[in-house]
Amino acid sequence: MAEKLFLEVVTPQKAIVSEEVEIVVAPGSEGEFGALKGHTTFLTSLKVGSLRYIDAGGKERYIFINGGFAEVLPDKVTILAESAEYRKDIDVERATKAKVRAEKRLANKAADTDLVRAEVALKRAMHRLRIKDIK
Ligand code: ATP
Repeated sequence: MAEKLFLEVVTPQKAIVSEEVEIVVAPGSEGEFGALKGHTTFLTSLKVGSLRYIDAGGKERYIFINGGFAEVLPDKVTILAESAEYRKDIDVERATKAKVRAEKRLANKAADTDLVRAEVALKRAMHRLRIKDIK
């Protein structure tokens, strides 16, 4: 059996994950990266996307990550995210509404619309819905 490493995912509101895992795959700003026990130390920022890991029981878990930072140590990965949710906690209706809202803002291009903000909101909503869709 693979040696385990410790995973912590925290947001300003709460700790989402704090457990031993076999592998973590996270959305680094320079590309997705995987970490197993013994990985060299590094620090990276994260983009909006999904983090997945295999827990101590061998089950694959998915978490939405709204950007942040990751610290990878040989025996521990710490993720500081602006917000994050387990797949089961993603509210599809809320994400769908956020997606429609952002799409409307982007389509209307009103003078007072912050397009970058609308694009990021759309990205968050689409990632949430994508994670929810994983079979
Ligand atoms: P909304 O426009 O619906 O608020 P958002 O993308 O702007 O969405 P965030 O700023 O990413 O929201 O998150 C604010 C808080 O709401 C966080 O605690 C986040 O976990 C939670 N949250 C946002 N959207 C969802 C969702 N679809 N399901 C579950 N929790 C959500």
